[in-house]
Amino acid sequence: MKNPNIVILGAGYGGIMTAVKLQKSLGANDANVTLVNKHSYHYQTTWLHENAAGTLHHDRTRIQINDVVNTSKINFVQDTVTEIKPQEKRVLLENGELSYDYLVIGLGFEAATFGISGLKENAFTIGSINSARLIRQHIEYNFAKYNNEADKKQERLNIVVGGAGFTGIEFVGELANRIPELCKEYDVPREQVRIINVEAAPTALPGFDPELVEYAMNSLEARGVEFKIGAMIKEVTENKLVFEKDEQREEIETNTVVWAAGVRGNSLVEEAGFEANRGRIPVGDDLRPKGFEDVFIVGDCALIMNEETERPYPPTAQIAIQEAEHTAANLTRLIKGDSHLEPFEPDLKGTVASLGHNDAIGVIFDDKKLFGWSATAMKKIIDNRYLLKLGGIPLVLKKGKLNFFQ
Ligand code: FAD
Repeated sequence: MKNPNIVILGAGYGGIMTAVKLQKSLGANDANVTLVNKHSYHYQTTWLHENAAGTLHHDRTRIQINDVVNTSKINFVQDTVTEIKPQEKRVLLENGELSYDYLVIGLGFEAATFGISGLKENAFTIGSINSARLIRQHIEYNFAKYNNEADKKQERLNIVVGGAGFTGIEFVGELANRIPELCKEYDVPREQVRIINVEAAPTALPGFDPELVEYAMNSLEARGVEFKIGAMIKEVTENKLVFEKDEQREEIETNTVVWAAGVRGNSLVEEAGFEANRGRIPVGDDLRPKGFEDVFIVGDCALIMNEETERPYPPTAQIAIQEAEHTAANLTRLIKGDSHLEPFEPDLKGTVASLGHNDAIGVIFDDKKLFGWSATAMKKIIDNRYLLKLGGIPLVLKKGKLNFFQ
């Protein structure tokens, strides 16, 4: 009998962790496992805001896939998925196609722009190494250009970040640290530069503990971040952003809008015909979409409900990693002839948001609040723990954040 084909799409947190776990739990004669990814590297999405601000080089964030995946056990295909055909058990790639017996989808997120005029065309998003590198270079270019024009344009020095959720806050925290360095490098007065964070909700970091939100806003405002809370972005053009607050329309002249206010699952997954809910695919506790016994969805493409709150769990790396470990274990059971799949339940260990490299806030063990140095250290522990799981101590030593005093 031929070995079953397991195809994993995407080498983000969900995809690569599924592959790394399967390479340990399955023997070469159990199954053929193929991992497909756009790039030759995996990147840690949760570090991309640092690359975008220019506080961390992108090579620290990316990990070559063949450094952690044993390519004599797992077949790695560097290609772009263009279509998933679940009825035919096939996946189309830019340069070929694959058929599968079991499919694991981990294609991650894309920006949700909610139809805001000009946003898609004119705003940047933090979603990959390429997009983060582009933001860093764009900001630097505008600083460089500022002193090379007779009419100095303020729009070059106004940086607007849409959304004061987790990603937006982490990004403005990095920017607040980076801007003084850029000012020095390009002879730009610090007081000329504005970092403006626009949020539609009545608070920054909606859903976070109010004491932590206040701490975060004070920390960021002290470093020059301006908040426009309860402000709805209406339009973005090449050189301005328009928002409405308290029924007043305001404009900010800017060449740099970074949109960090909404994500949805990769649209390829919805286009494949799975029933979707705002771009994510509801899955059962076995992480399979209804009606598809041979498809597992992990990470930001999957939607799982929190029975306690009756709301979906937010898309996070923490959940993507746990879903991947769970799926690898369930797939191993299936391949070894056990049709009983264990139900998945997220084990949430807490949340920590950085506010730049030397400040952070967080909640761990349900209600223990962390501020400042202790939260920063916890964030590094979380990051290093992931690297340890993925590639052991060598990967921690190569890519880890080991300086706890910086
Ligand atoms: P991803 O990690 O996005 O990976 C998807 C992979 O699929 C990528 O490798 C991509 O190249 C590949 N891919 C996409 N399309 C194709 C295609 N067509 N063909 C082939 N390959 C493709 N979560 C936390 O838990 N904690 C945090 O502190 C945190 N901070 C964040 C900070 C930022 C700046 C951002 C943007 C997100 C943050 N998140 C955080 C959320 C977290 O990053 C995501 O929930 C997580 O990345 C989802 O993992 P994933 O495996 O679903 O997808």
